[in-house]
Amino acid sequence: MTDTIVLGAGIVGVCVAIHLQRRGRNVLLIDRREPGRETSYGNAGIIQREAVRPRAFPREFGELFRIATKRGLDTRYDLSALPALASPLLRYWWNSAPVRYRRIVAQYETLIAHSITEHADLIAAAGAESLIEKKGFLLLFRSEDRRDATFADAEGDKRDFGVNSAQLDGAALAQLEPALRIPMVGALHWTDPWTVRDPGALVTAYAELFKRLGGTIAIGDAGTLEGKGAGWQVTTSAGRESAAEAVLALGPWAAEATRRLGYRFPLFAKRGYHREYQLMPDGRLERPALDSERGYLLAPMRRGIRLTTGAEFARLDAPLNQTQIDGTEVIARDLLHLGDRLDAAPWLGARPATPDMKPIIGRAPNHANLWFAFGHAHQGLTLGPVTGRLLAEQMTGETPFVDPRPFSAQRFMGR
Ligand SMILES: Cc1cc2nc3c(=O)[nH]c(=O)nc-3n(C[C@H](O)[C@H](O)[C@H](O)COP(=O)(O)OP(=O)(O)OC[C@H]3O[C@@H](n4cnc5c(N)ncnc54)[C@H](O)[C@@H]3O)c2cc1C
Repeated sequence: MTDTIVLGAGIVGVCVAIHLQRRGRNVLLIDRREPGRETSYGNAGIIQREAVRPRAFPREFGELFRIATKRGLDTRYDLSALPALASPLLRYWWNSAPVRYRRIVAQYETLIAHSITEHADLIAAAGAESLIEKKGFLLLFRSEDRRDATFADAEGDKRDFGVNSAQLDGAALAQLEPALRIPMVGALHWTDPWTVRDPGALVTAYAELFKRLGGTIAIGDAGTLEGKGAGWQVTTSAGRESAAEAVLALGPWAAEATRRLGYRFPLFAKRGYHREYQLMPDGRLERPALDSERGYLLAPMRRGIRLTTGAEFARLDAPLNQTQIDGTEVIARDLLHLGDRLDAAPWLGARPATPDMKPIIGRAPNHANLWFAFGHAHQGLTLGPVTGRLLAEQMTGETPFVDPRPFSAQRFMGR
C-alpha cells in the first residue's frame, strides 16, 4: 500500500524517494519517462562541492551591456521570452546585489557543504563507483585579470568555507592536461568536486537502489494529480494510485504543476545544450575544463567528450536554437582535438531556476500533505542527495541535518 507518491524521477525526485523509502515509507515514484532522462541526463556531471556561491546575475554595467548586445556565447536570450521573464529576472538581479547575495551564499553553502558526503553515501549503496572520478575540475583563464580575480575569490572560499583549490600557471596546466592546444595564462583547479562520467546512468543506478529498498516506479503524468480526501491521487499506466502524501520534484516543469495548484512562484528556466564528440587519442581530458572567458565546458564522459553551454533565457518549450552550441563548438575545436559529433542534434535541457538562487525544499504552503523539491538551477546534480535527505527528514518528523527555513516555499508567497 503506497503512502507517498513522488512525482518526477530526475536526480532530485529519485533521491527524495530513496530517503523516504529508507525511513520506512512505501514510496511510488512516478515520471512520464524512465528515471533520469531529462535535465539530470544531459548536464556536465560535476558534483560541485566548490559551488558555495550560486550563479549570480551580472551587476557590472560592462557585463550587462555585453549580454544585452548579444556579444559572447556564454549567455543568450530569446527576445520573445523577455516579457514573461522580466519580473523574475529583475528579482534575480536585485538578489544579486552584494549585501543580499552574501546572505544567500551563507545559506546556500549549508547545502553545498554536504554534497560530496551525501552522494558518497548513495554511490556506495548503489554500487555506482565506476561512474565517478575524483580529480576535480578546472577553470581555464585567457586573461591575467580574470585569473587573478578568481584566484583571490578562491582563497576567500578556502578561508570562509573550507573549499580547496590549486592555482596553476600555464606550464603547470599544460602538464596536468597536455591535450589542451591553446596556451592559457593559468587555471584554477577545484580539487574537491567529484565528476560523473554519465549523469543519466548515475540516476539510473540510484533508481535501482530505490527499487532494491522496496520502492516502486511507474509511468504517469503529474498533470493528473488531484486531491482525494486528505491525500492525493494520480493516474499511472497501472491505473489510479492514491497516497496520503505527495512530493513534486518536477525540475523545470514544477512551474506548470504548481500553477495548476494555484501557486505563482517566480520560476524560470535557464536552458542549456550539450553535444558529444568522439574521443581522439590526442584529445583526452583527465577532468572537466571550463573555458571561463568563452562560457562553455568540456567534460570527459563515457561516450566521448561532452561540450556543455552556458545559459539561454528562453521559454521552456521554445524550439531548439543552435547559435550557442555551434558558436562554442568552433572555439572548443581550437582548444581540444574533438572527433566527429556523436548525435545528429544537440541535447537541450533547462536548469530550473529561482530569483534568489536557492532551491525550494519543504512543505507546500497552501496544501496539506504536499511537499516541494525543485529549483536547483545550476547545481541540481550536486544537491539531489542533500535535498532528498533534507526533505525526507522534514516529512518524517526527524531533526533536519541542515536548517530548512531558507529554502521554504513560504518566501515566495504573497509577493
Ligand atoms: C547544460 C547543463 C549543465 C549542467 N551541469 C551541471 C553540473 O555539472 N552539476 C550540477 O550539479 N548540475 C548541473 N546542471 C543542472 C542540473 O542538471 C539540474 O539542476 C538537475 O538535473 C535538476 O534535476 P531535477 O530532478 O530537479 O529535474 P529533472 O532532471 O528535469 O527531473 C524532472 C523530472 O520530472 C519529469 N516530469 C516533468 N513533467 C512531468 C509530468 N507532467 N509528469 C510526470 N513526470 C514529469 C521529467 O520527465 C523529469 O524526469 C546542468 C544543467 C544543464 C542544462
